[in-house]
Amino acid sequence: MDRSDCNDSVFIGKSVKNHSIEPKIETMTKIETLRAKLPFPLKRLADLAYNYWWSWTTDRISLFQSIAPDEWQRCGRNAVALLESASYVRLTQMAKDPSYIKRVKALAEQFDKYMNEKDTWSSQVAPQITRDRPVAYFCAEFGVHESLPVYSGGLGILAGDHLKSASDLGIPLVAVGLCYRQGYFNQQLSRAGWQEEKYFDNPFDRMPLELIKDDRGEAVTIEVEIRQRMVKAQIWLAKVGRVNLYLLDTDRPDNDSIDRWLTGHLYGGNQETRIAQEVLLGIGGVRALTKLGIHPSVCHLNEGHAAFCTLEIAREEIQKTGKSFYDIEATVRDRCVFTTHTPVPAGHDVFSPDLMDSYFAHYWPSLGLSREQFLSLGARRLGDPWEPFGMTVLALRMTRAANGVSALHGEVSRKMWNILYPDKAEAQVPIGHITNGVHARTWTAPLMSDLYSEYLGADWSTHIADTAIWEKIEQVPDEEIWWRHQTLKERLIAHTRHRVKQSRQNRGEEQYRIDAADNLLDPDILTIGFARRFSPYKRGDLLLRDAERALRIFGNTERPVQIIFAGKAHPHDEEGKRIIQRLMDWCRQEKIINRVALIENYDIYTGQKLVQGVDVWLNNPRRPLEASGTSGQKVCFNGGINCSVLDGWWCEGYKADANGKGINGWAIGEDAHTSDQELQDKIDSESLYSLLEEEIVPLYYDRDANGIPHNWIKVMKASIKTNSPAFNTDRMLADYVAQLYAPGTTVKPAEIRASVSV
Ligand SMILES: *Cc1c(COP(=O)(O)O)cnc(C)c1O
Repeated sequence: MDRSDCNDSVFIGKSVKNHSIEPKIETMTKIETLRAKLPFPLKRLADLAYNYWWSWTTDRISLFQSIAPDEWQRCGRNAVALLESASYVRLTQMAKDPSYIKRVKALAEQFDKYMNEKDTWSSQVAPQITRDRPVAYFCAEFGVHESLPVYSGGLGILAGDHLKSASDLGIPLVAVGLCYRQGYFNQQLSRAGWQEEKYFDNPFDRMPLELIKDDRGEAVTIEVEIRQRMVKAQIWLAKVGRVNLYLLDTDRPDNDSIDRWLTGHLYGGNQETRIAQEVLLGIGGVRALTKLGIHPSVCHLNEGHAAFCTLEIAREEIQKTGKSFYDIEATVRDRCVFTTHTPVPAGHDVFSPDLMDSYFAHYWPSLGLSREQFLSLGARRLGDPWEPFGMTVLALRMTRAANGVSALHGEVSRKMWNILYPDKAEAQVPIGHITNGVHARTWTAPLMSDLYSEYLGADWSTHIADTAIWEKIEQVPDEEIWWRHQTLKERLIAHTRHRVKQSRQNRGEEQYRIDAADNLLDPDILTIGFARRFSPYKRGDLLLRDAERALRIFGNTERPVQIIFAGKAHPHDEEGKRIIQRLMDWCRQEKIINRVALIENYDIYTGQKLVQGVDVWLNNPRRPLEASGTSGQKVCFNGGINCSVLDGWWCEGYKADANGKGINGWAIGEDAHTSDQELQDKIDSESLYSLLEEEIVPLYYDRDANGIPHNWIKVMKASIKTNSPAFNTDRMLADYVAQLYAPGTTVKPAEIRASVSV
């Protein structure tokens, strides 16, 4: 293995060819500085803190937390910030605790074994993907951990999970994204329930990021021409197990002040910001890889945002070979693959010809193309001078393979893009599908992992795609799974109370309202979770459509129901914000005052608490607008049960018996579909109420003498058993290898092996 991929030396430049040569000048990397500060027995904590691998070990809960529990929460579970701020007295205290030292030592040994393993699943089934010619994965956002807030939602979380499983399976992969100074935004709700966006600087210097420097200790930079100026970007490295994630950052004093804000916000600003960021990600991303001496065998464009990278690959190739664009087009296509995530035409990025002129007039000559030839690369219909430039169109034209993210989404995409393949029937449109999954080791609560290790075998977490392993869930005693589930629910409720109390304080609510947060929710009540972006198509307020009926269900004194909401609306999405406001109003009704909670500022941390603690996960998008959805998959690994519209992944996950009754969860609205939105909302909400009243609530409260709901637990087990082997990123990555990265590779699910030992 190329050492530069796993050791902590991030120096490049003259020494790049010879990794064993130490940098000649006296510059310590951040990680070396941290190591120097730590007492001898704890030095390896520096390596662990600078690699997010620790975050998916089962020992993750208290490893850093036990050093300073309050500070750990305050710094957002940022391991580097915690160690930086810990006093030497406290660190030496920890360093004389033999059991803590043993833990650190054991974890460090496991880490070294993981990082150095040669005989990985990928090396066996797809040896043609090598460290020298890795896969390069481009995405506008990455959700690796809450302490690296450069993500907004599903796309980013999926990308983060993609990197973790690629690392675990040993797939040689590097990733490229942007390092947003202020990330997405922090959500605060006013007393009127209106979302306000707050922005805070990310302290890159105190985060698990290393700035890539040359052997003179200067930041390595690349340049991209944007708005007639040369913009410089520096490169931060985040380590995600064996995967290096490179994040471009234009916030440098030698840039114009406007350009310094180019990487200020994720999905902020207007079309201008958007195109500028996409130029940086695509073109700058390829330049960064070249500068780092990384020559990918395949570039994976995760969503259209990165599609400009195909142009830069072409430009490099033209420069190298002197051939024309049309001569090397096939070579470029051969090196690129594309995943689309958006099931509606309006959701795909398009740029006006004017905007394209101002950003690319200097660029197309370097491809040897005329303006018309260049613009036609992104045109859905050729020959129309007003036709906008589509990023998905460019990506589909310039890649050798493309996929949607669920079976249904594949179908929808083939229909939507048939226009680009006029000589093909819809079924022949070359867009396949690979259904999304989640990184189980990140999303499964350690309390559940522990149960699985005991009953499914210690190797369950390295063989997640093996259906036979999950069959053994039937052997788990009901009492055993139930107390663990209830404990996680209590943990979720404690988190919710704490966060709601904080929000009420920040909002300046009356003292009795602040105190009342301590009585919010009850672990003995059926608990529903609903957390996702508040895009109108996700219908966050569908449940309130018949307010009276909802009140009867939630306010029922015998068999009550409670629900926890979380999610942000995009800053420009007024309708999304109105939905949040409606929910906030609803929370305040006397009859259900302790039954409904809304947690502000949804992030990975709150997400984990939710998916690990709820009884039922609710998802009611307008079909077929949810390309896949992944939060419901996280719930399955923790024994939660899905109640969802048959959209995205749930079309594949939901199993019913011969009478049409759900075995592993519930389907809202069955297969009834109409283009009349009002009518569809009516059908779906009524179906949801009936499911709650007639099936979900009675099943939950059906208990034996000891209060154990055996019939409910049967569905929990079915949810775990049927969904887990399919909807995880190990299976997903294996599919990406077989279909996109190394076509022709045969994948046997039972043999997919992750190299982690928990
Ligand atoms: C999983 C997750 C998402 C994506 O959930 P969907 O079901 O795809 O809407 C968004 N945000 C966070 C914080 C998540 O953990």
